[in-house]
Amino acid sequence: MTDQRDFDLIIAGAGPAGAALAYRMAAGGASVLLLEKQEAPARDRNWVVDVEEGCFSRANIPFPTKDSLWKKPREHFLATSDMQTMIEIERVPLVSVKNDLYIREVLNRAVNAGITLMCGREACSPILNRDCVVGLESRDSSGAKEKIYARIVADCTGINAALRTRTPDHWRMNESIEPEDVVFARREVRSVRKDLLSEEMICKPYRDGVRIDRSGARGPYSIESVFLDLKDLFVDILVGAKPDAGGKRTCAEMIDTIIDKMPFTGEVLYGGEGPIPIRSPHNCPVGNGIISIGDSAFQTVPIHGSGFASAVIAAEIAARNIIHALEIKRYDRKALWTYVSEFARGRGALIAYYDVIRRSVDKMRLSDIDRMIRAGIIGQRETVTGLSVRPFPVSPVYLAGKIIRGYRHFPLLVRFGIAGVRAKMEYEKYRKYPKYYE
Ligand SMILES: Cc1cc2nc3c(=O)[nH]c(=O)nc-3n(C[C@H](O)[C@H](O)[C@H](O)COP(=O)(O)OP(=O)(O)OC[C@H]3O[C@@H](n4cnc5c(N)ncnc54)[C@H](O)[C@@H]3O)c2cc1C
Repeated sequence: MTDQRDFDLIIAGAGPAGAALAYRMAAGGASVLLLEKQEAPARDRNWVVDVEEGCFSRANIPFPTKDSLWKKPREHFLATSDMQTMIEIERVPLVSVKNDLYIREVLNRAVNAGITLMCGREACSPILNRDCVVGLESRDSSGAKEKIYARIVADCTGINAALRTRTPDHWRMNESIEPEDVVFARREVRSVRKDLLSEEMICKPYRDGVRIDRSGARGPYSIESVFLDLKDLFVDILVGAKPDAGGKRTCAEMIDTIIDKMPFTGEVLYGGEGPIPIRSPHNCPVGNGIISIGDSAFQTVPIHGSGFASAVIAAEIAARNIIHALEIKRYDRKALWTYVSEFARGRGALIAYYDVIRRSVDKMRLSDIDRMIRAGIIGQRETVTGLSVRPFPVSPVYLAGKIIRGYRHFPLLVRFGIAGVRAKMEYEKYRKYPKYYE
């Protein structure tokens, strides 16, 4: 076919991955169309996200302005499920960001730099020509369909992976996610009603300016996090759980249980919910003329479901690769492979590492997690390391410290050690990910 395509790149989905990719591509001078199925960008994505501080510079995207930054707690603790034992989590390099406001900030810059943003238009399926994606079929809210052509298509549609899952079988990129590899999360900021507030109502251990992450509130792989701020009169609540973990309660019901204990809690000011993929990264997130980024390529950190930083870092790597592919006029999988290899060897290796630990946690009982926290097998260092997304520091002094603290819980210590060794092996495997498409 003659090369009469409408755009260099079509991006489907304006979440963190799509917005960051659009911003980086606009800077590279490419003609870009960004399609978003919602009527306005990030309309249903209004939750606060805790993001690794360094990821904005790593991804070459602007640091959030004051408007989209969310307040940080004065103190931060990890608690056992019965709230009896607490570990102070200090110096975690995280910034809290209003997800939708930040996405719009990045998109405004991308639009000003020349990309075309089309909202209310859903990407339905890729268009194939001679075993290569050459565009996509889209649909607006009235159901009217339109075909749009481009040299490369980027699937940034989140966990549903609307385009990747519709590629040919022999490309091996259409893998769908297993239900056990999904966690549901809800994060709400609610007002605190001053007229109903009294000292007696603030039940222990909640305190002004303090965030408490309660581990395993609903089964081993779950979290309840409460940050109470009596100066600005809000309570910020995050819950996350696997659908099959310990009962049938939904995230909304889990939040109701928390606020039942805080009768001064008022209406929802800001909040939302959704599914998060928690597994190792997709092994082959590119095909001929198509690339998948962010949740659509399973790029969240499995142990706590953080996907924002990975999505924007992946978008930066993809942008560099796409700009090169456009320069050499090659859009096949081999030409796009640098993205896969570079991501897998760096961030992807960490995701694979934490997936091994997540699988080990999945098999534990809630009481085991509590005992590990109480014994200091899981302590401040492990929590901060996990939140900073690094491999655990292993040194003779570190190991000796763990053995001294955890010898009374020898079987748990051994399980923790085995998970650590397996995770390290997986990490090393990904560090050697094939540099060239084989
Ligand atoms: C309640 C909650 C709390 C979270 N907290 C954190 C946190 O604290 N820290 C953190 O790092 N991560 C957090 N995450 C995860 C994080 O939000 C995601 O990993 C991240 O948003 C993934 O970005 P993405 O761009 O890949 O996908 P998404 O954010 O899912 O964006 C996909 C976009 O594509 C659009 N879309 C979907 N299908 C189509 C289609 N067919 N055509 C066109 N557009 C389409 C969607 O409307 C959406 O705008 C949280 C998630 C949830 C649900």
